[in-house]
Amino acid sequence: MEESFRFKEPTETLLSEERVFRPLPEIVVEANISPKDYKKALEKGQRDLEGFWEEAAEKLEWFKKWDRVLDESHAPFYRWFVGAKCNIVYNALDRHIKSFRKNKVAIIWQGEPLGEKKKLTYYELYRRVNQFASVLKSLGLKKGDRVAIYMPNLLQTAIAMLGCAKIGVIHTVIHSGFSAIALKKRVNDAKARVIVTSDGAYWNGKIINLKKAVDEAIIECPSVEHVIVVKRTGEPIDMSDGRYLWWDDLMEGASEECETEILDAEHPLYILYTSGTTGEPKGVLHVHGGYMVGVYRTLKWVFDLKETDIYWCAADIGWVTGHSCLLYGPLLCGATTLMYEGHPLCPKADRLWQIVDKFGVNILYTAPTTIRMLMRFGAELPRRHHLKTLRLLGTVGEPINPEAWLWYYENVGRERCPIMDTWWQTETGMFMITPFPISLLKPGSVAKPFPAIHVEIVDREGNPIPQGKGGFLVIKRPWPAMFRTLWGDPDGYKKYWEIIPGNVYTTGDVARKDEDGYFWIQGRADDIMKIAGHCIGTADVENAFFSHPAVAEAACISIPDSIKGEVAKVFVVLKKGYKPTDELDRELRQYVQKELGPIAIIKSIEFVKNIPKTSSGKIMRRVLKSKELGLDPGDLTTLAD
Ligand code: ATP
Ligand code: MG
Repeated sequence: MEESFRFKEPTETLLSEERVFRPLPEIVVEANISPKDYKKALEKGQRDLEGFWEEAAEKLEWFKKWDRVLDESHAPFYRWFVGAKCNIVYNALDRHIKSFRKNKVAIIWQGEPLGEKKKLTYYELYRRVNQFASVLKSLGLKKGDRVAIYMPNLLQTAIAMLGCAKIGVIHTVIHSGFSAIALKKRVNDAKARVIVTSDGAYWNGKIINLKKAVDEAIIECPSVEHVIVVKRTGEPIDMSDGRYLWWDDLMEGASEECETEILDAEHPLYILYTSGTTGEPKGVLHVHGGYMVGVYRTLKWVFDLKETDIYWCAADIGWVTGHSCLLYGPLLCGATTLMYEGHPLCPKADRLWQIVDKFGVNILYTAPTTIRMLMRFGAELPRRHHLKTLRLLGTVGEPINPEAWLWYYENVGRERCPIMDTWWQTETGMFMITPFPISLLKPGSVAKPFPAIHVEIVDREGNPIPQGKGGFLVIKRPWPAMFRTLWGDPDGYKKYWEIIPGNVYTTGDVARKDEDGYFWIQGRADDIMKIAGHCIGTADVENAFFSHPAVAEAACISIPDSIKGEVAKVFVVLKKGYKPTDELDRELRQYVQKELGPIAIIKSIEFVKNIPKTSSGKIMRRVLKSKELGLDPGDLTTLAD
């Protein structure tokens, strides 16, 4: 990433969003964190970082408390809750079954085929997790071993993850949309002893044969001793290889009792490979203690989880959002979490609204790419459903353009539900910059750093950049849910702290801060353009395109230009009913030039049917750019389709 961080000057702001939205009084009055508490938390987080996180840790249960909160002696290899003993599963399950939550629904699972749904109470989930942990033990797995999980959003995926963690086995979930090659690469990198998979997966009305990818991959995966297969679709599959075992057979005989392993707070919990938007995916390692504290604190406060809520994070379990916000976070908070197996357009484009309506969902968390996709089908679809139970909305993954934000706010939230635009990364494990339910909201801004998160915008040398201009987004102080290393690549981990002087963590994103201290993500540092001496982020240019009624999607890249240094090229997907004509090309250019001013020189517009994205829905600008320039596109294993 270093070489591409080439720009030295601050980025310019081409678009500014003036609209401000205030939360309704009832949201503020009922919020877990009042405006006064929020102010106090911000102040404490600045003054006493360790005290702030210690207070959060006290809310959870530990087998043994810490000797000290933070050890910086081997920075950037920070250690949190040093000397403490815990297990995240104890806090996500065991502690609830001793309380009134024992019979509360922990997970509601909705299959893609209509009518397929299941619910598990905390007690039922606890027992099934015990069984799976017993299965792993009977296969000889020990603390520290790795298990790869290659499955979509199934109850068994959640059970497998928690079953691993329960006995100190490290899980690595591999997105079920990945090919055999991507699977092989990750399984070998983690040296997994077991793969858990399913016979097939439902995806947008089709059946994907997952098992076939596993067959292909394991030919070259020498570490794999067993493959546990969940029966999901019932397609005929070949189980003749001695390594294949049926999930149901193993679970049937397994004990429903299993001791929760007492682990060091720094014991690894999982390895998760990043989205691969900007390059090779990296094997991010998270641990039990600090991760549970950070995820618990941030989710409970930002999504304002209440005992009676139904909370739906519509992400795939294969991404960090699925780990922190679909599974671990809500269970740590004792919430009811909804898991949807399938595609948002299946069988029709109102599936999300139908699910909210059916279960009475109170909190919905999704991604800008999903919102933009659903916008294309019009506001009548959400309008047709009963969405009155919704209280809060959320978004994550990419900058959300103000048009999509407003559509979500008006048509889904019916102007009652604040939108939590949460900025974070696989590496951070938890929300880092985010509004609270009580915050003033500006469409497209991720608001302010979470209390005790010390964020700054700096230049290449680490000097602060004046307010209003953009630069590298860095984090100056450690946080408990931070990754501890890259699996098998401690030097790669150290690099994050070495790019910019001052022992700061370089996020790889570029952002600016406005006069109210609100942050605006302008794009990836790799993608910043330098046009005629002006540094410009991709988000401003794309947002200008998004605000034109003909544009469904836009992706901006820079291309070298002998006079201007660089110029912008924009790939555009049109909305239904619009044709890619020269006239529209001209109109779009005039329109965005007016929006952005003369600095942003749009060299060309190319109308395309699709924009390359990661399986998690992020635009892969590097793929467009390498194609444009005839260069090697790099790792494509996380490219969707
Ligand atoms: P790789 O690191 O392999 O290139 P990735 O960065 O896409 O992949 P993730 O960890 O899944 O992998 O994504 C984190 C990134 O997503 C952030 O660095 C940021 O660019 C983007 N992002 C996440 N949330 C937001 C948000 N609310 N607003 C703007 N951008 C966001
Ligand atoms: Mg990244």
